[in-house]
Amino acid sequence: MGKLRGVSKIGCFLHLFCFMLLGTSSLCAKDIQVVNKATGSVIGKVQIVHAGRYDYVSIAELADVLSLSYRIHEKAKQISLTAGNTVITFSAINPFIQIGDQLSQIPLNILYRNGRYYAPLEFLVEKIRPWLTFNVSYDPGLSQLFVVQSTANIVRADIRDLANGSIIRITLTESLNKSNIFTSESNGWFYIDFYGGRIEPVHDFIHNHSKIIKSVRPIQLSDETARLSFQIRRSIMDKNVQVNANQVVITLRTRDSLSPDLLEELEKEREKWKIDVIIIDPGHGGKDPGAVGRSGLYEKDVVFSVAKYLKRELESRLPSVKVLMTRNGDKFIPLKKRTAFANQNGGKLFLSIHADANPARWLKGHTVYFLGPAKTDKARKVAQFENSVIKFEDSQEHYEGMSDLSFILGANAQNAYNKESQDLASLIDREITDVCDSRGHGVRQAQFFVLYGASMPNILVETAFLSNRNDERNLKNDRYLSNLAKAIANGIVKFKQRHEAAE
Ligand SMILES: [Zn+2]
Repeated sequence: MGKLRGVSKIGCFLHLFCFMLLGTSSLCAKDIQVVNKATGSVIGKVQIVHAGRYDYVSIAELADVLSLSYRIHEKAKQISLTAGNTVITFSAINPFIQIGDQLSQIPLNILYRNGRYYAPLEFLVEKIRPWLTFNVSYDPGLSQLFVVQSTANIVRADIRDLANGSIIRITLTESLNKSNIFTSESNGWFYIDFYGGRIEPVHDFIHNHSKIIKSVRPIQLSDETARLSFQIRRSIMDKNVQVNANQVVITLRTRDSLSPDLLEELEKEREKWKIDVIIIDPGHGGKDPGAVGRSGLYEKDVVFSVAKYLKRELESRLPSVKVLMTRNGDKFIPLKKRTAFANQNGGKLFLSIHADANPARWLKGHTVYFLGPAKTDKARKVAQFENSVIKFEDSQEHYEGMSDLSFILGANAQNAYNKESQDLASLIDREITDVCDSRGHGVRQAQFFVLYGASMPNILVETAFLSNRNDERNLKNDRYLSNLAKAIANGIVKFKQRHEAAE
């Protein structure tokens, strides 16, 4: 019931957007430049159409500027882009996007007018970026779309499991001679060295789940040699390497059954992954009130209530799980101590609960964040506010140097949890939308110090805006707070089921 109602509501809302787009596109269209970030040269222009608060772009026009091929399926009202080797299909008046064989979603519909398909640029860039052989970023403030030609020539690995092995397909941006590719194996790892290979260590290489290959690590071994390391769950009996132009295809034949030590290791691994301890972190506390509502409601009090409801809800629905809170009263706890507490107690999930505030008082609804470099100004500002509580702390040296760059490097350790954190964030986002009838701002990423040290999937929920009259009224209502807790718990329960079944 809740779900259906939510969907039709969004549909309705987007119709309005669509209508606005149809009516005013000629009035509020403007061009933005597409710029090569390395050279500063302008590659081309795309026309932006404003609808609501969002900038839309014609998908075909963007594809042309980025030199991506596309096809329009007029009957199905779809447009397909080819990015790298992946076909990405968008459907008119639909938020779902088919990426390869997986379905993905953006927060807004694809709009359709006169045979053209329009997508909100910010979300479009976010969705296609992982599949491109170059990097793109959009800066709405500067009205520029940046293209960064990466120097890496090894850009991605796709894995397909077979009954008795795996096929690893590695995509390069140029062809390498087979004599420059060396493979070796030891202790459950399979290595491929590329002489003349360039790789970016932070690149997200594994794009699909494999039962046989547990993880992939890209490393630049030296100026000349790049290495891809594959952690294999079965022992390798036979291997074959083929080079076809810019693709390296490696077929690994493995034993059908798992060896006893591998089985034992897997079992241990599975136990480690079990979500048996959940850490709830009510934001702020003590001398730090957090955001303050129009009528004087403190963020620290609201989020503490939500946290208590959530603890109770989780304990009754997941009786075998230990639920701990980083603070049990109105106490000030430094940010780094919150994640240290989570790590020390063997936490498997970390949820920081907050309430938003913004000078734009009309802003309302929830936002769910996971840790990562902020992609929008708004996300950056929310993180800045939440991070500013370190001014209440006695020593701030732990946070020094957490600039964007050091963050990206330091966040390498976090990469292992990024996908999980994002999954958890989107499950909770959807539940809050449905259960609380709250219009979300989607899942976003930003650099929250409080999430930085958590060695587990971690998210931060901005439950609603204390600066909005309506939202503040909701946050004063115990029933609403308990519904928020129920929604968050629903997301956690779903995540737990999915996560534990996936291994
Ligand atoms: Zn807060």
